[in-house]
Amino acid sequence: MNSNEIDIHKELKKYFGFGQFKGLQEPVIKSILNKENTFVIMPTGGGKSLCYQLPALIQEGTAIVVSPLIALMKNQVDAIRSLSSENGIAHVLNSSLTKTEITQVKNDITAGITKLLYVAPESLTKDEYVQFLQSVKVSFVAIDEAHCISEWGHDFRPEYRNLRHIIKQLGDVPIIGLTATATPKVQEDILKNLDMSDATTYKASFNRPNLYYEVRTKTKNIESDIIRFIKQNKGKSGIIYCLSRKKVEAIAEVLQVNGISAVPYHAGLDAKTRAKHQDMFLMEDVEVVVATIAFGMGIDKPDVRFVIHHDIPKSLESYYQETGRAGRDGGEGHCLAYYSYKDVEKLEKFMSGKPVAEQEIGFALLQEVVAYAETSMSRRKFLLHYFGEEFDSETGEGADMDDNVRNPKNKVEAKNQVVQ
Ligand code: ADP
Ligand code: MG
Repeated sequence: MNSNEIDIHKELKKYFGFGQFKGLQEPVIKSILNKENTFVIMPTGGGKSLCYQLPALIQEGTAIVVSPLIALMKNQVDAIRSLSSENGIAHVLNSSLTKTEITQVKNDITAGITKLLYVAPESLTKDEYVQFLQSVKVSFVAIDEAHCISEWGHDFRPEYRNLRHIIKQLGDVPIIGLTATATPKVQEDILKNLDMSDATTYKASFNRPNLYYEVRTKTKNIESDIIRFIKQNKGKSGIIYCLSRKKVEAIAEVLQVNGISAVPYHAGLDAKTRAKHQDMFLMEDVEVVVATIAFGMGIDKPDVRFVIHHDIPKSLESYYQETGRAGRDGGEGHCLAYYSYKDVEKLEKFMSGKPVAEQEIGFALLQEVVAYAETSMSRRKFLLHYFGEEFDSETGEGADMDDNVRNPKNKVEAKNQVVQ
């Protein structure tokens, strides 16, 4: 089947009910239908899933989708099943299935019913599964969250390193890698590890023109500064990120005492409390959630108006992801980070217990955060440059949306600002 013979707009409408493709979806889908190795880099929310779901649904054979999180796989399978009257159209293959369930999955694949098979990378290493997949028609292999293959990514998973070897055993099937967090270094790593230097790369812009970036020097008065900020933004939803659980609890309490409705969120709270606090935030029973980075994965609240970093993040990728939760609806989003060099030293000390290779990567990523915090140039330009993107700080979209551009400081001031 060739992409020219199918009306993919019609298929988009038929399966997903959407009238238009988003961003680069259309060329990506054509590339997959043409059996090319394809590399997709789009920010979170860009619509990456549809890039492989649509071609899988309209092609012969089963597409294998590798994804790191079982919960995410289940969500996607349910979503696909709801588009069809055929339950077997999508399946998950993992260690939690019973023998009977595995037989059902295999039968549906062999019968040509299953269009999408979600697998965790560790399941793919099982000989039994590999042998089975060798005997059926595989349309392509999609590797979601492909940055997991790189030690320079924020979520390195060693099992991802075996994927290329396993896919080779399936014969000549196209590969599609997808990620939201690709610095040039991570990109290189993905292409190298998947042995697909021939891949056609589709990269969407990472610019978020509606986000305002600001860095403030962290002083002893940080708490009253945050309180003042929130009071100036009364009625708006926001997230405050802290490094430690202890700090999360402390800040949440200080806010409450000062009449701000806030709840804490971190992995030390039991699941029920976490769910309750998350719901309170989503339902707007509270204005602010004070959280560790445990908060945010899969949170889709469109009108988060500010994201405050009480402590600096460990990499600019994390910073981009965390601030990216502001202004999803296209409205304003204020991203405020507090910076002190003491925090950097704290993080470095924290990392010193780790293996040397990991430490070196950690330090290098942290140095980029320091450079971002200390820069006097356009923060948007700095961030986008980190993601391998050129940004014109005079005419680009959102060019005036940062503190350095609005209030240029001379170099001496910039330097003094970080000394406490
Ligand atoms: P990503 O994996 O890139 O973070 P998702 O695949 O989860 O993004 O998609 C984000 C949202 O965009 C989903 O709610 C999805 O339904 C929606 N979406 C995807 N493609 C389209 C489209 N062509 N038109 C409208 N909405 C879309
Ligand atoms: Mg995704």
